[in-house]
Amino acid sequence: MNTIVRLDLGGAAQIIFEAGDITEQQTDAIVNAANSSLMGGGGVDGAIHRAGGPAILEECRRIVARDGHLPPGEAVETTAGKLQASYVIHTVGPIYRDGLHGESSILASAYRNSLRLADRLGLLSVAFPAISTGVYGFPAEGAAEVALGTVIDELAMARNVRLVRFVLFSPAMLSTFIQAAIEQQQRREATGWNFTTTTQEEFNPRKEKEAMMSRKKIIAANWKMYKTPEQARQFMHEFMPLVKDHKRDEIVICPPFIDIATVSELANGSNIEVGAQNLYWEKEGAFTAEISGEMLVGAGCKWVIIGHSERRQYFGETDDTVNHRLKVALEAGLAPIVCVGEVKEERESGITEDVLRRQCTRAFAGVSARKAARMVVAYEPVWAIGTGLTATPEMASDAHQLIRREAANVFGEEYAQQLRILYGGSVKPENAHALLSQPEIDGALVGGASLKADSFSKIVHW
Ligand code: PEP
Repeated sequence: MNTIVRLDLGGAAQIIFEAGDITEQQTDAIVNAANSSLMGGGGVDGAIHRAGGPAILEECRRIVARDGHLPPGEAVETTAGKLQASYVIHTVGPIYRDGLHGESSILASAYRNSLRLADRLGLLSVAFPAISTGVYGFPAEGAAEVALGTVIDELAMARNVRLVRFVLFSPAMLSTFIQAAIEQQQRREATGWNFTTTTQEEFNPRKEKEAMMSRKKIIAANWKMYKTPEQARQFMHEFMPLVKDHKRDEIVICPPFIDIATVSELANGSNIEVGAQNLYWEKEGAFTAEISGEMLVGAGCKWVIIGHSERRQYFGETDDTVNHRLKVALEAGLAPIVCVGEVKEERESGITEDVLRRQCTRAFAGVSARKAARMVVAYEPVWAIGTGLTATPEMASDAHQLIRREAANVFGEEYAQQLRILYGGSVKPENAHALLSQPEIDGALVGGASLKADSFSKIVHW
């Protein structure tokens, strides 16, 4: 009976080790460890092309014709042909010579780039063969150490990927990888990790997927028009030590444009990501005082708030301009936080549902589920922003369910189940727990209470 060893890394991430045939895996992406070119030769590459059918090879040929051969350590996706996965991610591992030619860093980059690509595609799970072990001559222990170290670091940063499966071609290789995982646990003094063993027969991929679809919460700060670069620096010096071990939720800070470089530089390599509060929908040009998606990415942003009610109220933002901004943000590789919410009069006259429905359908128009993988929605009842009034957890939950139904209508049920919907409107340390413990509330967008390191860190630790 085949054994599966599962390593629970604490938080939501897991690694599974098993021996078997990678082409039979129920996973969202299978990594194809091609050797010297995208179209590669034998081993896993051949097995994937045989099982997936000619469509994958055709796609590979088109990619090579367009971009040339894939350099070592890079990754690119194709669809998965007849395989059960949605994608095959192709990467090129090193050819091992004597270990002194940068082989380890190429191997790490093959794992890292494959995982980052899966994450950008919005996937939950990825299956890896042992890239460059055995077949391409990389000593197994060394490869396992590089693979595990890289995957564990990347899982801690991933937004979407929760499960990595190592599908090894022999029981001996399986033991090597499990041993490497135990060594990683000792080296990192990781007390929250947990190993369990089951059999392949007991393992139910559908149930696993349902469990994984529980959504990681996001705690995002919107600093609005507060803080000079020096004040931003001071905030980061105080805030970072307070949240440095926090893995349960994603932490995002959206400072004014002028502070982005400072905050990005300080947050680099930490568990904090940076976002902007707006972007313009043209790529570049004579648009005085505007900022493009590409500029934001260049300054270190991963996120961008779109359609905040203060933009709608004071700066002429409409549902259509929200839609333009959403499209360019996704095109630029940013994760948009699209804000929707009713004003007081709309709630009082009983049209909250119509307003939310209209804002969502217009914002999402012409966007595909695949492109929208990184999108997050923030429900911010305008009457609760900066007023001290908060929607009750039940009110917020109702609005979130409605938004999720709207997302299901536009993007499909599976997408909607993964979509994260944040609540915003006078979130503070005192009400954070009641709001964030609602299963429908996938995080918070915090204005006023995010300006002080102490109060924002309390919200992060809700
Ligand atoms: C916001 O600006 O997005 C917000 C929710 O503000 P506050 O938390 O101050 O209500």
